[in-house]
Amino acid sequence: MSATLRGRQAGGRDVVVTPRAAVQALPAYKPGRNPADLAREIGVDRAVKLASNEVAFPPLPAVVRALAEAAGETNRYPDNGAVVLTRALADRYGVAPEQIATGGGAVMLCQQLAQSFSDPGTSLAFAWRSFEMYPLLAQVAGARAIQVPLVPGRPGGPADTHDLDGLLAAIDETTRLVFVCNPNNPTGTAVRRGPLEAFLDAVPAETLVVLDEAYREFVTDPDVPDGLEVMRGRPNVVVLRTFSKAWGLAGLRVGYLIAEDPAVAEAVRKTFVPFSVNMLAQAAAVAALASEDEVRARCAAVVGERDRLTAALRERGVPVEDSQANFVWLPLGEATVATAQALEGRAVITRPFAGEGIRVSIGTPEENDVFLAAWDAVRATVPVR
Ligand SMILES: *Cc1c(COP(=O)(O)O)cnc(C)c1O
Repeated sequence: MSATLRGRQAGGRDVVVTPRAAVQALPAYKPGRNPADLAREIGVDRAVKLASNEVAFPPLPAVVRALAEAAGETNRYPDNGAVVLTRALADRYGVAPEQIATGGGAVMLCQQLAQSFSDPGTSLAFAWRSFEMYPLLAQVAGARAIQVPLVPGRPGGPADTHDLDGLLAAIDETTRLVFVCNPNNPTGTAVRRGPLEAFLDAVPAETLVVLDEAYREFVTDPDVPDGLEVMRGRPNVVVLRTFSKAWGLAGLRVGYLIAEDPAVAEAVRKTFVPFSVNMLAQAAAVAALASEDEVRARCAAVVGERDRLTAALRERGVPVEDSQANFVWLPLGEATVATAQALEGRAVITRPFAGEGIRVSIGTPEENDVFLAAWDAVRATVPVR
């Protein structure tokens, strides 16, 4: 198919416009399965969506109140500097406001980082499989993507863990950015303090390391460091966080980045699309931060369900590793796609990665039970491993 778009202008003249080659090569956006559509299709009342790592709790009460209040002012532009939110984040994390950049979801901050630090001929390194956004960032920025395969976290296990030595060896003088997703999406494994600090000490000073901690609030292993602690004293490190997961604001689109060096945060702020953290998102994020105790309690409940689901799957012979996030990873290999399809036939939407495995988000206890029942039914028909 020709990538050139053809049309006819009002004056009758042919127009031929051509997207950049890098954009032509991008995959077309493929929306996830919608639970209402699936339920209708298979004739059930309700389908369960465990595909996007949201939390299943409704928005926090304080968030709903803040949204109602802010709604009355949405004829105005939002605060382009997100001053109140930035101040609240600075107070919460003990950093200066100058070290912070807010963005329309952490994904937009990823894009801003790529725009701020990549030039044609540079490279961007990350583990693979990891967050799906990373290869796209490189492509759009015209940078080379250096993908370093995951390695088994335990001998004989599936390749599910960062290879920090491999990542370090793959970095060269063109590498401007390295993403370390900790815990890793979609495998749920995390790198620990010692190896991470050794890695950060060895990375060239000209390479910016982005610790993507979208799931930090679900980490329970004390050996997995808080990125903000290991960032201290390392001006080439930033920590990326989001309100979409633990804080329950996925639908509002707001994330933030904290940089050791304020100049890094400033560079990211310069590529901000004006007003892209909207007024409701800012108000909601401030209210969520003020409700941290409730958020912590919710995270503990998610962790309890994560551990229950992990144990239940292991009892069924599935080699599930400990997850530090709000999802579990089922390394099903070649059985992945057939299993995910069969689960959808039983009204459960998961996130398959063909040939590798299925990521299952932790839902409510009832949703997780629906998943386990579907698994048991599907297991009889789809051979696993
Ligand atoms: C979900 C996620 C994000 C951020 O999501 P936003 O909704 O854009 O804030 C960032 N990194 C990883 C690894 C994620 O899984």
